[in-house]
Amino acid sequence: MKTNLLDFDLDGLVAWCQAQGEKKFRAVQLFRWIHHKGVSDFTQMTDLAQSLRNMLQETAEVSFLPVVSRHDSADGTIKWMFDVGQGNAIETVFIPETDRGTLCISSQAGCAVGCPFCSTGAQGFSRNLTTAEILAQLWFAETTLRRELGKDERVISNVVMMGMGEPLQNYAALVPALKTMLDDHGYGMSRRRVTVSTSGVVPMIERLSQDCPVALAVSLHAPDDALRDRLVPLNQKYPLAELLQACRDYLAFAPRDFITFEYCMLDGVNDSDDHARALVDLVRPSRGEPLPCKFNLIPFNPFPASGLLRSPPARVKAFASLLSDAGIVTTIRKTRGDDIAAACGQLAGDIQDRTDVAGRRAKIIPIHA
Ligand code: SAH
Ligand code: SF4
Repeated sequence: MKTNLLDFDLDGLVAWCQAQGEKKFRAVQLFRWIHHKGVSDFTQMTDLAQSLRNMLQETAEVSFLPVVSRHDSADGTIKWMFDVGQGNAIETVFIPETDRGTLCISSQAGCAVGCPFCSTGAQGFSRNLTTAEILAQLWFAETTLRRELGKDERVISNVVMMGMGEPLQNYAALVPALKTMLDDHGYGMSRRRVTVSTSGVVPMIERLSQDCPVALAVSLHAPDDALRDRLVPLNQKYPLAELLQACRDYLAFAPRDFITFEYCMLDGVNDSDDHARALVDLVRPSRGEPLPCKFNLIPFNPFPASGLLRSPPARVKAFASLLSDAGIVTTIRKTRGDDIAAACGQLAGDIQDRTDVAGRRAKIIPIHA
């Protein structure tokens, strides 16, 4: 079987090349061809020696994932579904904005955390993605968009690990993928433009601060352990006090001087004034230091069978005001791509079901991969 070169960060590729008797600088050239220039065909890598190109043809490949479908939203959001084998699929979402292009990447097929408001969680856990499968999403989206838009420079400026899965429960595959995003010979993104979103895997937050401290978003969703135990079952293992301490510790290494807390607004569940006040107390305790943070309120995106409802807009606004009035920077996340079920929490990746789970009409472009 050929070695998929998307599985390596630069150090990994150097080691692999050296094992084939090639010098380090050859690995750098190869890495740049793949990630910087978006080339997968070794014959096009013109500054590599013919003997190296021949060796690569025989032993290696740059293998991305088969595309099951592509949906283009009216607001410019694009969602791809990729086949990862054995009936599993994952989804990747591109969100264009005036000043940036953000790619939302999946880290697992399914998710084991099982948050009841998330369609990925409802689907259960299938398996971890490999580094190659994580990077293939970026490699494919970047090369495809560049070709379509006729651009030479980067189209994707930001990455958020907010697709399907819990990235910190797939740590070993995640870190080389992050390093490739940051590498100047790879995608050259700054650490503040790469965000890992986690439901709160405390020991891995600590490890990330040492191995690859990118921007951190923490999915909070509740101000107390009783409610969070239900909404984010991982809280039973890593309760709020430990999670908040891990956030404080992370700040010493983080590329930004705050942690982003995500909070999914669920009607009648976690959206009362009392919940907002309790959140303020949590991050600004009367005794002790305030925790530098921002809140991102995400109106719940419904999916079939969740049995949950989105908080009314007036409730979300009132909740946001309580946080803002306490001096906490709070934004209400605009829903993007919900006409193609590409919004937060709507990624199901069920290869059996290729219809729009939101039940609306969406433009479906079949891909013949
Ligand atoms: N597993 C990670 C990253 C993926 S989820 C995490 O939980 O952080 C990305 C974000 O979408 C999280 O903040 C998650 O709580 C939120 N989310 C999940 N389901 C949602 C839904 N149905 N509506 C709105 N946000 C949702
Ligand atoms: Fe997993 Fe995140 Fe969904 Fe929870 S919200 S089930 S952690 S993907």
